[in-house]
Order: sequence, then C-alpha cells, then structure tokens
Amino acid sequence: MADFTYSVDADGVAILTWDCPGKSMNVMTREAFALVSEMIDAALADPAVKGIIVTSGKDTFAGGMDLNVLARIREEAGDNPAQALFDFTMSGHHILRKLERAGMDAKTLKGAKPVVCAIPGTSAGIGTEVALACHRRIMADNPKAKIGLPEILVGLFPGGGGTTRYSRMVGAMAAAPVLLEGKMLDPKAAKAAGLIDEVVAPDQLLVRAKEWLLAATDADCVKPWDQKGWKMPGGAPYHPAGFMTFVGAAAMVHGKTQGVYPAAKALLSAVYEGALVPFDTALRIEARWFTSLLMNPSSSAMIRSLFLNKEALEKGANRPNVADQRVAKVGILGAGMMGAGIAYVSALAGIEVVLIDAGQDAADRGKAYSEGLLDKGMKRGRVSAAKKAEVLGRITATTDYAALAGCDLVVEAVFEDPGVKAGVTAKAEAVIPAGAIFATNTSTLPITDLAKASARPEQFIGIHFFSPVDKMMLVEIIKGKQTGDVAVAKALDFVRQIRKTPIVVNDARFFYANRCIIPYINEGIRMVAEGVAPALVENAARLLGFPVGPLQLVDETSIDLGVKIARATRAAMGDAYPDDAVDAVLFAMADAGRLGRKAGAGFYAYDDKGGRLGLWDGLGGHWPVAAEQPELSEVQHRLMMAQVLEAVRALEEGVLEDIREGDVGAILGWGFAPWSGGPFSWLDIIGAARAVAICDGLAAHGARFNAPALLREMAARGESFYHRFGAGAKAA
Ligand code: NAD
Repeated sequence: MADFTYSVDADGVAILTWDCPGKSMNVMTREAFALVSEMIDAALADPAVKGIIVTSGKDTFAGGMDLNVLARIREEAGDNPAQALFDFTMSGHHILRKLERAGMDAKTLKGAKPVVCAIPGTSAGIGTEVALACHRRIMADNPKAKIGLPEILVGLFPGGGGTTRYSRMVGAMAAAPVLLEGKMLDPKAAKAAGLIDEVVAPDQLLVRAKEWLLAATDADCVKPWDQKGWKMPGGAPYHPAGFMTFVGAAAMVHGKTQGVYPAAKALLSAVYEGALVPFDTALRIEARWFTSLLMNPSSSAMIRSLFLNKEALEKGANRPNVADQRVAKVGILGAGMMGAGIAYVSALAGIEVVLIDAGQDAADRGKAYSEGLLDKGMKRGRVSAAKKAEVLGRITATTDYAALAGCDLVVEAVFEDPGVKAGVTAKAEAVIPAGAIFATNTSTLPITDLAKASARPEQFIGIHFFSPVDKMMLVEIIKGKQTGDVAVAKALDFVRQIRKTPIVVNDARFFYANRCIIPYINEGIRMVAEGVAPALVENAARLLGFPVGPLQLVDETSIDLGVKIARATRAAMGDAYPDDAVDAVLFAMADAGRLGRKAGAGFYAYDDKGGRLGLWDGLGGHWPVAAEQPELSEVQHRLMMAQVLEAVRALEEGVLEDIREGDVGAILGWGFAPWSGGPFSWLDIIGAARAVAICDGLAAHGARFNAPALLREMAARGESFYHRFGAGAKAA
C-alpha cells in the first residue's frame, strides 16, 4: 500500500488521502512526495475533477518530514551534498506551488481548481506546510489536536515553504511564536493565529470541506501574494512598521539564542530577504537558507540528538530482550519533593500509586502536591474535574507498608542516608511480590552499596529523576554490579509509560549527569575565587548556549546541597579531593546564610518575591575581582571542558555505554548547549585534535584538564566519536 491514495467521488471531488501504512503518524518521504505530485497532476488534468481535498486516513494529519530522509540525501550526494539538498528542497517547492496554483491562469488569475485541506488532528512540519499551500484549511475540533511548525526545536526551520507562506499570511511579527518558538497550537488558537481558517466538529470535517470546495469562487483560489499590489501584512523590511518589526525580531532572536542557534538566524534571514522579492524568488531564498542550515554541523547534530537518538532511546534502543515489564502498581517510599513528583507523573500515566512516608501528614502533603499541579492544569483549561479525580483516585497516601502488596515496582525517595534507605528497603521487600523490582532515586550513593540492604540485588536498580520531576524529561537508570536484565527492562518500561527519556548507565560516583554538572558548577565557583569577574563567568556560559550560568545553577539547586555533596565527596576521596578552592567559596556562602534562591540570597540577589535581581554586589568584597581578566574564550573553554572531559571519562570508564545517551542525557538533564547536540557531538564538531589542543592550553589550571587517553588517541588517528562509537556501539 502507498502512503497516499487517490479517489474521485460522484461530485467530481478528488480526495488525496495520506495514510502511511503501519505507522501511527504520517511522515513525508521522497517517494510519497513524488506520488502526491503525480496525483496532483492527475486531478488537475482530469476535466471531471472540480477540486481537491487533501486529508488523512488517521486521526492525526502528519508528524512532519522523515528526518532520516535528509540525512540520507546528504550521504548519497557524494561530493556535492548542498546541491542535492537544494534540489530536493526546490522539488518540494515546485510540487506545493503546483498544488497552490492548481491550474490558475497567471494573467487572469482564474481557473484554479479549489484545494482544501481537511485536518482531522495533529499536524506538524511538512504536514502543516502542505496545508498552508492549500486554498483553505479546515480542522476538526479534536481536543488532542495541535498544529504548528516546530522545526526550530530540532535545529531546523520550516523549509517546505512554511516560512515564506505563513510569514506572508500574517506578517513577520504575528508569525514569530509559530516560526521562531515552534509553538504548537490547539485548533481554536490556530484559527486565531491565522494558521487555519475554520474549526468544525470532527464528523463534519469532510462534509464541510466538500461544501466549501463546491461553492469556492475563482477569488477563493488565489493566494494574496499572487494578486497584484500585494503587500506584506505588518510591513516589509523597508516599510516603517516592518523596519521596527525586523529590527526588534533580530534583537529578540539574538537575545534569546545568544547567536549560537543557526536555525533562528537562517529563519529570520529567509523571512527578511524573502519579503523583498516576489513569492517564487522568496521560495528559492528559503531553499538556500534551508540548505545552508542542513549543511551546518550544528543542525545535523541537533537533529541527531534531539530527534533521531532521543526517539531511539525512548523506543528502547538499549532495552534487554525480556518480556514486557510495564508497571501496574508502583510503591513510592518518601513523599518529599521527589517522591511527590514521581507519584504525580506515575498516576498521570495511569499507574496505581502507593505513596508512603513516615508520618500520615507527610504522605498527605505528598499527595496534595499532585492536587496542586492538577488544579493549576484546571485553571489553564488543560485538566477536567473528572481527570483530576481520576488521577488523585490512583494515589493512596499512607504510612502502612502493607499497602505495598501487589506493587510490581517500588521507587525509594527517602532521605539521602544509607541507613534510612536500608531500613525502608527491608520493610518494603517483606511485603512486595518476589518478582517486584526495587529502585532507588539516590543522587549520590552507589547503587551497588545500597543493594547490599536488599535480599534480591539482581532486582535492585537506580532510577534517578531530576527536579522538578514533572518538568524534567530525563531519567537516568543506573545498573548496580548485580542488577539483572529484568530490572533494567522494568525501569525502561516504566520511564516509557511516564513518557520521559531514559539513559542507562553503570554505577560510579555521581553516575553520569551529576558527574558532569558538578565540575561545571565548581569551575564557575573556582573562577570567582581566582578573581575572575562573576559576570564574565555567567555571560561566558550563556554565550556558549547554556540556559543558565554555573553561579545561577548553584543558586537554583541550593548552596547547602553543594556543601553536603562536597563534604560527602571529600569523605569518600580523602587526600585526593581536588576541590578545596571551590569549597572555600561555597562554605563561606553557606556560613553567611546565602543558600541560593530558596533563601532569597546566593551568588545572586533576589527581591521579596524571589525574582533574580543581578549578581550579589557583595561578592567582590569577599573575592576581589582581579585587575587583569582572562579572555572570554579561556573562560568558555574552562566551563566547557570541565563537563565534556567528564563525559569522555565516563565513556572511557564504561559508565556510559552509548554516546547517544551521553549526548541526549546532557541536553535533557542539564541543558548542555543544545545547539551542539551534546558533549560528544560538540567534540566531533571541533574535532578531537582541537579539543586536545584546548586541553593542553588549560594545563596550567590543573590536572582536571588533562586530555583523557581516549581523546588523545582519537586526535592522533583523526577519529570522531560518532564514527568510532556509532549508534549503539559499546564503549572502548
Ligand atoms: P525530601 O527531604 O524532600 O523528602 C524525603 C522524604 O522521605 C520526606 O518526606 C521524609 O519524611 C521521608 N522519609 C524519611 N525517612 C523515611 C522513612 N524511614 N520512611 C518513610 N519516609 C521517610 O528529599 P528529596 O529531595 O525528595 O530527596 C529524596 C531522595 O531523592 C534522596 O535520595 C535524594 O538524594 C534524591 N534526589 C533528590 C533530588 C533533588 O533535586 N532534591 C534529585 C534527584 C534525586
């Protein structure tokens, strides 16, 4: 069966139905594009056809372009991939332009066959771009449906004409939320945003589409930009209003992206330059910018990490081959910040939850956390009263361990204390079924050590969530020495149920994410101690594309937590402990009661409502800013290498087994410069040799910048990580 089918009904309406066999969502491929082109030709050539309805055989419209296609075109093109990508993009423009003009006479603007897009549900990317090429867009009032052009979120921009068409439909300013932020809109919001024309009851979708089509006039089938005297809404760049818009947009984009996301720049350039020329030339310009973006290593890395690899991990790329381990009933020990969050995401996913704390009050407070989040959702119109009751009905808050009977998974989130953890492990294991899996959410304690408290260590595993649990998409699964395959599969199936992204790592101090985040924070603090201007430290990080600088990050996670971790690490490492300089600052801040945002005082100053005001002006009194400041690039190299080298060491030591997990985990876990695709992708972009040279240049700062042997070896051989370790390849 083909991806599109073609039929003509008794009233002469040609129906192009998109329905990729065996897929839950339609995605566009090269073959499908060629097929739809033939079908458009057939409909336009057939005198019996009065018009065309483009629709979907599924309850959604389309998920977008198959991004593997773009990678394949680049690979197949040999010496001139840019030309192949440009030609492919232009061929798409020709097809959609043919659909848009639909046989219209260029002089009289008459004679086009009406084309209407009937959108039953969610539509993204190329799906929405096909819709935009139609003369009218009618969408079903489907509560789950969203429509938009989210390409920017994977490092692209809408390159199938969507950028040019939508900006010309509503103006550059109004198009910004959809194009620049990748916002997906529900049908009503999409109508308000001019993305679609009508919202109808789902059972009326095709009826209404046909009614419009049969009544359509010549004027209904001419796009505004094909009419004489058309002017860009909101003004083209040289119009006074347009000038303001574009100047503002350029500043806003730069402010938000710090200039590190090529997609945002390319998008804005395509809109700006396209607005100055006729429509068909604008499409060519869009295609050139799109090609330049596809040739930029940042966008390939973003697509690879944020789309292809993320999806592969979510689908269980590293799942052991054992039977389905979906969770029916989960027990959560400890109803504090983390336990309450884990209870919420589990209940939301339809899992029965037993939430246990030492006192009933604490258990109830944990459940009330879910209620608070559901109430927020209700206020925003996203959660119904029935849904709230249903989700809360799944959570039993209690102190009674007997309630854990029948739980197939337990997640422990009590105090970070091995003794307390051992106690609750034994109590839970006395009740849960023999086959149940026991997971700990510890952030610092070795899984293998905690497993000693378990009578069944092969069923003991780490499932490490990030805070706040409902927002953070990464879950780190940690295998202890004795953890078995069923436990890994259970953890992965659980993470899939709650719709988060898993990485699976081996047991080592701080696992993977914290192992990299802590040196980043520490490097920032160390520089403050050395007299580097705190603003230089923070801005250097932001200019690298990190969402928050190290000092802001430690304020958010709290300085007392930093102190606790430092003490525990020192106790474990003894004389080898390398972070005295950091501790001097951290402990002084803690002694002064500047514990971070929660205390309203940290490296930053805060107002009464917790709003960040700026770096604390008292920092200079404690750690005077040196007269001579390092180059920005040196500060950046220190911040970057502090994290990246840990990622390489984690791979070298076998803590990480798959570089895809290292990259995806870094972006989702701590916001590692998403434009780079993650630490390994970043190293591939700059090359191992350059990375080693940077390390050598930082040698004076300490042994932590010594290039790992693996990196040196790769530099000598001219290897890249993705070439050497490829998708799914095991560590060295
Ligand atoms: P928390 O202090 O907010 O909550 C711990 C809860 O456990 C409290 O409600 C406490 O009453 C309960 N508790 C303590 N002893 C108990 C016992 N014997 N029986 C039943 N309940 C008991 O702590 P948290 O921030 O939610 O952290 C919990 C765990 O998650 C820790 O291991 C921590 O390292 C880990 N973790 C924390 C974060 C974070 O950002 N806070 C992130 C990842 C992992």
